[in-house]
Amino acid sequence: MSTSYEATAAWAQARDAADPLRAFRDEFLIPPHEGGESHYFCGNSLGLQPRAVREAINVELNYWGELAVEGHFKGRLPWMDYHEFVRDHLAEVVGAQPEEVVAMNTLGVNLHLMMVSFYRPTPDRHAILIEAGSFPTDRYAVESQIRYHGFSPKLSLIELQADEPNGTISMAAIERALAEHGSRIALVMLPGVQYRTGQAFDLKAITELAHRHGCVVGFDLAHAVGNLPLQLHDSGADFAIWCSYKYLNAGPGAVGGAFVHARHARAALPRFAGWWGHDKTTRFQMGPEFVPTPGADGWQLSNPPILALVPMRISLEIFHRAGMQRLREKSLQLTGYLEWLVQSQLADVLEIVTPKNPAQRGAQLSIRVLGGRAQGRALFEYLIDHGIIGDWREPDVIRISPAPLYNRFTDCLAFAEAVRQWKNTA
Ligand SMILES: *Cc1c(COP(=O)(O)O)cnc(C)c1O
Repeated sequence: MSTSYEATAAWAQARDAADPLRAFRDEFLIPPHEGGESHYFCGNSLGLQPRAVREAINVELNYWGELAVEGHFKGRLPWMDYHEFVRDHLAEVVGAQPEEVVAMNTLGVNLHLMMVSFYRPTPDRHAILIEAGSFPTDRYAVESQIRYHGFSPKLSLIELQADEPNGTISMAAIERALAEHGSRIALVMLPGVQYRTGQAFDLKAITELAHRHGCVVGFDLAHAVGNLPLQLHDSGADFAIWCSYKYLNAGPGAVGGAFVHARHARAALPRFAGWWGHDKTTRFQMGPEFVPTPGADGWQLSNPPILALVPMRISLEIFHRAGMQRLREKSLQLTGYLEWLVQSQLADVLEIVTPKNPAQRGAQLSIRVLGGRAQGRALFEYLIDHGIIGDWREPDVIRISPAPLYNRFTDCLAFAEAVRQWKNTA
């Protein structure tokens, strides 16, 4: 495929015109730039707003105005069951059974709730394995749980060091860590896609390996959900958590999600409980004894924020129509094109950190600016001024993530042309 790429507007426009998913872009609000549209590559940080969201929120506001408390039972989608209206499509996106997923809280909260149930340290097996340089929340959450159980991060937090030149981690390194420490590791907690490098991990291979060593396995899918087609159920992972404002386009601070594997659906696990996790059929008897709803729903604490779930419902419906497989096919082409542009046109200024193997990455390319931080910041500011929206990671990396729902081949070309212009003016 790469042999057919061309760095011309004619080629990129022809590819956009032939894209079977091209109409989905029109379902999103593209941030304007100087009378036109910006080239938005920041879906890894905050996905764009689906146009249908505003009206859909208005519908719920009207129900609140007109039905008030009755809105829990009346209206087109009664609030009482609202989180269930996102469940099937959410399960589809992450490759799970519907009862294995729930939309609730936010990522950090869900990570703690899951660890309450799935991090059960004993004197012999108390460690948690995470990747070095993990997202701060993940590290803080894991450290604080270790302390909460009376252990010390010094002994119980094991950080997997990158063993590959660009800061990525090989499967062999994970195998070595488990061979060395497996018997004292209670929980393996790794990302689906690493936020800094863009490296995608093989969830199933990691799960099988860690289970062989007797460890529980959880994944942080913040950068994987809506980006890669996942098969969470088949991966065998014990749990997973994610946020929904990145590739899922569910809005700033959107409601997050959690996956609990079906084999734990009825397990008597310790958990922090709330009334919304109580068995739905008897919840309103308001009894003193907590009886969890089987499956992921049983981890809910509170009745869900309806207005915040609206964008997720709208967005997941778009994912359902587009299909994760088709999105992935386009994503491979788009990111492949961006990679080819960088390597063939811009190798004197930029270097890609993200793995070359498409199976080991999603949409995002983490691109190091040669020449260091000052040069990098200058280029980054120049791109923003020219309507090319990526994001910056210290000390010298620009993350560019073409999202197949709304990005085009012409966006990737615009990025490359802007970098070339900057190079010529610098
Ligand atoms: C985005 C992200 C988070 C953010 O957590 P919130 O609780 O949603 O603020 C956490 N972990 C990772 C790996 C992320 O990429």
